[in-house]
Amino acid sequence: MSESGNVLMKADHVKVYFKGKNRREGIVRAVDDVSFEIMRGETFGVVGESGCGKSTLGRALVRLLTPTSGDIYLEDNKISSMTGQALKSMRKDVQIIFQDPSASLNPRRTIKQILMEPFEIHDLNNSKEDIDQRIEELIQLVGLDLYHLSRYPHELSGGQKQRVGIARALALNPKIIICDEAVSALDVSVQAQVLNLLQELKKKFNLTYFFISHNLNVVYQVSDRVAVMYLGKIVELADYDQLYEKRYHPYTEALLSAIPRVDAGKKSHRIHLEGELPSPSDPPSGCRFHTRCPRATERCCQEEPEFRELEPDHFVACHLYEKA
Ligand code: SF4
Repeated sequence: MSESGNVLMKADHVKVYFKGKNRREGIVRAVDDVSFEIMRGETFGVVGESGCGKSTLGRALVRLLTPTSGDIYLEDNKISSMTGQALKSMRKDVQIIFQDPSASLNPRRTIKQILMEPFEIHDLNNSKEDIDQRIEELIQLVGLDLYHLSRYPHELSGGQKQRVGIARALALNPKIIICDEAVSALDVSVQAQVLNLLQELKKKFNLTYFFISHNLNVVYQVSDRVAVMYLGKIVELADYDQLYEKRYHPYTEALLSAIPRVDAGKKSHRIHLEGELPSPSDPPSGCRFHTRCPRATERCCQEEPEFRELEPDHFVACHLYEKA
């Protein structure tokens, strides 16, 4: 991994458990012991099926959820146990863009009022003129016109609403933005425009993103490193290029096989996974993927594989790749 001085955020053995909806469901282990570091200026992509725990993890990083155990650090500050004013102040630095722009914007407020919210919440003593000027700057940064400021969310398209969500996240110059399925609700052509915008803003302001999506193709377009999650665990983590060239985990292989390869001479053959994602309240023993893995052995049913560095900066949890 890169030098520790460049680590912006760190998750150390983070678990997020919930009580199930009923007694039969017991405890839901949404995120179950994940550790990683996010480098300053990178886009850290997280991909996995719906229900794998990636959004829960994102919400724990913003502290919309408190981890059951484990620690989360922003620079040198442990944010997983912050409360009160310290927590409120930290939230300036860690912003989130949600999947559904319609649900995340207050329908009764104009776009200008919505963009004012971060300044109201954090009470930063800016003058009214400064805030007005910043809001005008923000709306133009995300490719909208000044007249949009007097509109209400229902007067905007889905892509425009998501641009407002991005502007709101940028308002207080955060250190990291969690993009939680930020383009999943948009049409493909609009998706591409919003992804381009996120990339442009990243370059311009040296932003750091934690980019969550169920769609590996989308994650690939924007990420510097990619973590693959399965049932609450990270099963593979590597640079974008490394993972594209050589992926090890059978689950990553299956996810990638669904993306057509453009490199000449390399044919991909689609791997269809059997069965549904098991319940996180009753995860399979041993390797959690063993109930669907085409390469599972007896050992996989009993023993959990260690998440280990197989090559420099390429981590995998699978018994197939253990050094002798
Ligand atoms: Fe498949 Fe076994 Fe590897 Fe798990 S440990 S991914 S079940 S081969």
